[in-house]
Amino acid sequence: MRNNNDTTRAILDAHNTGPGKRTPALACGRSLSIPGASDTRPSLACGQHPESGRPRHECGVCGIFGHEDAAKLTYFGLYALQHRGQESAGIVTSNGKKVSIHKAMGLVPEIFTESILQGLPGHMAVGHVRYSTTGSSHITNTQPLMVTHKGTTLAVAHNGNLVNAIELRHDLEEKGSIFQTGMDSEVVLHLMARTTHLGLDRALTESFSCLKGAYSILMMTEDTLVAVRDPGGFRPLCLGKLNNGGWVVASETCALDLIEAKYVRDIDPGEMLIINKDEMRSIFPWPKQKTSFCIFEQVYFARPDSDIFGINVYEARKRMGEILAREFPIDADFVMPFPDSGNYAALGYSQASGLPLEMGMIRNHYVGRTFIHPTQSMRDFNVRVKLNPVRSLLQDKRIVIVEDSIIRGTTGKSRVRSLRDAGAKEVHMLVSCPPTRNACYYGIDFPSSTELIAAKRSVEDIADYLGLDSLHYLSLEGLVEAAGLGKENYCLACFDGKYPVEPDLHFHKGALDM
Ligand code: SF4
Repeated sequence: MRNNNDTTRAILDAHNTGPGKRTPALACGRSLSIPGASDTRPSLACGQHPESGRPRHECGVCGIFGHEDAAKLTYFGLYALQHRGQESAGIVTSNGKKVSIHKAMGLVPEIFTESILQGLPGHMAVGHVRYSTTGSSHITNTQPLMVTHKGTTLAVAHNGNLVNAIELRHDLEEKGSIFQTGMDSEVVLHLMARTTHLGLDRALTESFSCLKGAYSILMMTEDTLVAVRDPGGFRPLCLGKLNNGGWVVASETCALDLIEAKYVRDIDPGEMLIINKDEMRSIFPWPKQKTSFCIFEQVYFARPDSDIFGINVYEARKRMGEILAREFPIDADFVMPFPDSGNYAALGYSQASGLPLEMGMIRNHYVGRTFIHPTQSMRDFNVRVKLNPVRSLLQDKRIVIVEDSIIRGTTGKSRVRSLRDAGAKEVHMLVSCPPTRNACYYGIDFPSSTELIAAKRSVEDIADYLGLDSLHYLSLEGLVEAAGLGKENYCLACFDGKYPVEPDLHFHKGALDM
């Protein structure tokens, strides 16, 4: 577990303005009660994404303050966060007076060249990689979003999902706001624009008090960088220090590592961190609330070399495998992952059970866009193009597969058939989380619960459907134990249906599209 930097914390606390004492009317019209105060995403010829059937990553954000190469550092930060979104990316920079922006559809290295980065001058920057959880995959829905209002420029990059975005948008439209994208994040710009005359602290407090749901947000004006994390802290957000004394705020610590920044601490749930040339300080406008860290970040989304919520992801996934070995010992010849997501839990299972670990399927790391259609006879093309079984290893063997999750079950079915075709005698599967039975409303693009296989079928039915000899899921208690913090710290809604923030059940990805 990483330790917070106490010195920095103390400096930040000393600057903390603390909660206000008023009960002001908010930009959204409610009262605030403050006690005490061009699509290049990889796709296959059949039109499917190679990860079709998997939950999709949400978004990643990275911001820099106080470095003359802010655009380039942000580029590398986004490069490290590419796994969180592959549809589009963007960077906005400022030299204190002039703001520049570039964003486009595609992957980070496809969008930014040396000359484009040179055209983004300044000592501060905010960047974003996107997978669309709200709004379609289109250039109008790329981030950072940027507007100029009464002479001040404001840019926003958002990871998460606002559960009251429809209601807020209707309310703002009634008051004359004109929306230009299909993204929930745009309401933040409109709320801020309506309150900037109150000064930054009150504008932030009033605007964000209207929001419900999950948000790790970076905002930038000409001279100030702001990082905000929702009171539940659904999505990760961390602070690092650059070699030259400047600052970086990013979704995951792997972004800090690539630019040789030192991890300082996580942005706290409910914290607003403000950085400009004069100061670095935090506001905590709301009373402390129960945290709702997304446990799926540990299961699947985050990179294994990142520390999420203070816990290393690689080690957490390995513990999931160790606990699976305790809960479900299986007599077999070897254990194997579906690479890469099952790798670490499979390693943990192997070490705890004593079963050898083998790589029975080999991943093609160069899968990208192909325009050539497979022939009619190429069964399971989408699976084989990415993962190919090692026949000589699998022939007549009893194998245990470790998988991180089963969402629709379509991918798993093809993969198991591919193992059987390669000669496997018995195929058992262990999943390093409980059955995923409920949709996510906080920024993860699960299919609706009608498409989640575990919402419709029993574990035995799923085993039959996938063609398995046996199927076992890690218990909820086992998952929480592996993730490393107490149960009360996590959102577990996709497993237990207990939503920490009431969702809008009518909300869907295209609900705000123009
Ligand atoms: Fe994460 Fe599941 Fe909660 Fe969504 S519902 S935030 S995926 S734990």
